[in-house]
Amino acid sequence: MTSPTAPSIPFPRSTTRLACRTNPHWFAPERTGSPSARQDIERAKRACSGCPIATDCLKWALTHADLTRIGVWAATTPRQRTQLRHRLENRLGPDWINAIARADERARQRDARPPQPAPAPQAHPMWAHPYQPWREPLTADRQQHNRELLKQALTQPTTPTPRPTRIRAEAY
Ligand code: SF4
Repeated sequence: MTSPTAPSIPFPRSTTRLACRTNPHWFAPERTGSPSARQDIERAKRACSGCPIATDCLKWALTHADLTRIGVWAATTPRQRTQLRHRLENRLGPDWINAIARADERARQRDARPPQPAPAPQAHPMWAHPYQPWREPLTADRQQHNRELLKQALTQPTTPTPRPTRIRAEAY
């Protein structure tokens, strides 16, 4: 099993006060196995379960085995972290740390990209510049155009509407 550190996976940043910084003795009790040490570990695990960066902390702890040999990290004990590393290796292969680092890098790049503006709605060509007679002045050109339209309409022979035939009437 590989257990080198992965420098491309940084420890997550947090603006909140982390319990592991304010109460470090809970996370790495000196006399392991004693009742008070067990109590401290339980306290540490509880604090981790409410920590806003627990997921990224776990990722960092798993990929930095040599820096996390002891103590509680992201609510896990050293033995639990070893088990998780074995599982990751089985799932992702011997290069699992780099696989996680690459996925992490891709996610960081995606998050850093500025959001794409939504495409402007396409106006239908017919309505791109609709004529708004109540807004636009009636120009001389438009007056002339309107007169011609009217003339055409009056001079064009109209086709008579066909009367209903007898056959059609009988069909009812
Ligand atoms: S999850 Fe990690 S950063 Fe958060 S309190 Fe636990 S050990 Fe500290």
